[in-house]
Amino acid sequence: MSESKTPLLDDLEKGQWPSFVTEIKKMAETKPMAQDLLSLLELSYKDKRGYWKHGGLVGIMGYGGGVIGRYTEKPEEFPGVREFHTMRLNQPSGWFYTTKALRTVCDIWEVKGSGLTNMHGATGDIILLGTTTDQLQPLFNAYSNEGFDLGGSGSNLRTPSCCCGMARCEYACIDTMDLCHNLTNHYQDELHRPMWPYKSKIKISGCPNDCVGAIARSDFAILGTWRDDLRIDQAAVREYVEKGLDIQEIVIDRCPTSALNWDGNELQFKSEECVRCMHCINTMSKAIRTGVDKGATILVGGKAPILQSAFLGWVIVPFMKMEKENDYQEFKDFVEKAWEWWDEEAKVRERIGETICRLGMRNFLRAVELEPIPQMIFKPRTNPYVFWWPEDLN
Ligand code: SF4
Ligand code: SF4
Repeated sequence: MSESKTPLLDDLEKGQWPSFVTEIKKMAETKPMAQDLLSLLELSYKDKRGYWKHGGLVGIMGYGGGVIGRYTEKPEEFPGVREFHTMRLNQPSGWFYTTKALRTVCDIWEVKGSGLTNMHGATGDIILLGTTTDQLQPLFNAYSNEGFDLGGSGSNLRTPSCCCGMARCEYACIDTMDLCHNLTNHYQDELHRPMWPYKSKIKISGCPNDCVGAIARSDFAILGTWRDDLRIDQAAVREYVEKGLDIQEIVIDRCPTSALNWDGNELQFKSEECVRCMHCINTMSKAIRTGVDKGATILVGGKAPILQSAFLGWVIVPFMKMEKENDYQEFKDFVEKAWEWWDEEAKVRERIGETICRLGMRNFLRAVELEPIPQMIFKPRTNPYVFWWPEDLN
């Protein structure tokens, strides 16, 4: 048996999980580009350093984003990856595809690119890994003819993304897919033409379970919620208990704000204490449902570490109706005011959460014309510097 040329990468194929190395090897059987990618990666593991560099702007006519230029530092040794640009395709809302659509994406990519994909990138797009500069425009034309568009990259609005929402999930309080589609179409200019100090992301989850990780990963997180009471079916609660659920330990004691109480027969609920964390609903989904007056909570400022550490989004609007009939105008008015302020005030490569942190929440609130309210504060209940007179609590 001949000796492997990629002993370090081979190690990553061991174990029970699928391996990206195996997939690149499959593609390397027919694509020299993928073969050189393997060899370059093996060298990186051996030398413990990356051999990619940024350099030169690449793109397609009329667009400023959607293509990320990649070049290797070792083009003579690895000519197949001399140019290895990444393209982002805007995914459909909720990542629903027909198999025909997926085949179309792959068929085009196998002819004009490396054949390697990443389904999906952290932003949500279909990521097409590795093509040459001369193929960019033909690729765009081919995808465009099939109804696909580029996603966002650079200092612009990144491709909005959402959970599957009402299409599959009983917890969805808003139509995430319609909202995502609407915002994507409405903000085409912001998506394709980098014009801001840095990137801005909108992510939408249908309920506070936040399956798309919007709170941690987006500048504007839209989370479906409700503002009336939980709907509790007491008979169904008792059935859970009769079947052995330790309701005290599993549900009551784990409610973060002590909004629930079990007296042995009935589940009592203090509506004003509920922070809509979803725990009791997730645990007893047959007995407890969200309320019926539904809308969304808007959080601002989430991001991964870049200039500053990772941020989770702040609650800025505790409840906003998400009205299709009104074309989601209330949210659009809000986000446009926030973008305008950030665009004026931010330093280069500063996300809106960092700008708020640097200039203060009061400046931000003034710009978006909102009054400060208690829901914007994470922990008034446990802050030792907030005092009440006993009579205030009655
Ligand atoms: Fe369902 Fe909520 Fe997850 Fe969306 S975020 S898929 S509505 S549980
Ligand atoms: Fe408590 Fe969360 Fe249930 Fe509200 S949703 S009652 S906060 S467990």
